Amino acid sequence: MKIARFDDNCLGLVEGDQVKDVTAALDILPRVGYPLPLHDPLIAQLDAVCAEIRRLAPTAKALPLAGRTWLAPVANPGKIVAAPVNYQKHLDEAREQVEIHHNNQVIEIQKIGLFLKATSSLVGPSAGVAIEHLDRRNDHEAELVVIIGQGGRNISRANAMRHVAAYTSGLDMTVRGPEERSLRKSVDSYSVLGPWLVTADEIPHPDQMDFSLHVNGELRQKANTRDLILDIPHLIEFASSFYSLRTGDLLYTGTPEGVAQVHPGDIITTSFAGIGDMTVVVRSSKS
Ligand code: MN
Repeated sequence: MKIARFDDNCLGLVEGDQVKDVTAALDILPRVGYPLPLHDPLIAQLDAVCAEIRRLAPTAKALPLAGRTWLAPVANPGKIVAAPVNYQKHLDEAREQVEIHHNNQVIEIQKIGLFLKATSSLVGPSAGVAIEHLDRRNDHEAELVVIIGQGGRNISRANAMRHVAAYTSGLDMTVRGPEERSLRKSVDSYSVLGPWLVTADEIPHPDQMDFSLHVNGELRQKANTRDLILDIPHLIEFASSFYSLRTGDLLYTGTPEGVAQVHPGDIITTSFAGIGDMTVVVRSSKS
């Protein structure tokens, strides 16, 4: 099932070129009080929400995909985990180009591990990317994103896929430079997510997914998730050996070769097989 958040915090079921307004399915979510839950309430009830969506869909109002405002499909992730240089050819290009590595040693993911992006950087596709430091190189990074279902610690590779609720596509936008990744990749709007989530049952082979990224119609990145250095089960095992994964946490799985600069006015489009296409406009944060 493809589930979107759109327009004025509506919930949608995406079917073909339409989205059905099934916002009423959110009524089954428990009311929350202070302190807020440490997980995403929608993902925590995803199976029940899907059942309610199925009940509502036959009579739900259908809207065209075109013209909708797409929000991040997970509104309240507890954390955003991300994998650096997780494709060999991206590791090669990062080591070759000083504009990417900035004299930082580019270390293999097995040694440098994972990093976190601030949740305040999360936006949906329609919010666009607002470039904050126009004098710096700001790059696109197209990435498959895993949405964690059942949380856990020390999850084994063998059990890892049972902890995946859904998939979506993302942009791990990046300011190149000498600072820590967690700073350079946490600018407001630098974690784009969407345009909708696809429940894991509809993506039987996330390890064989073709995807691409274009800027203004020009192909920049084209890859397949089979070329991940650490695959999804390995990433989940690695991450959960350091911190608990919680329901709704996001795992950006890394970007392939072809990272390049974007400027205000550029239009980024991503296409992920089995998920769909996402369009993101780049602007200046000053405008
Ligand atoms: Mn990345």
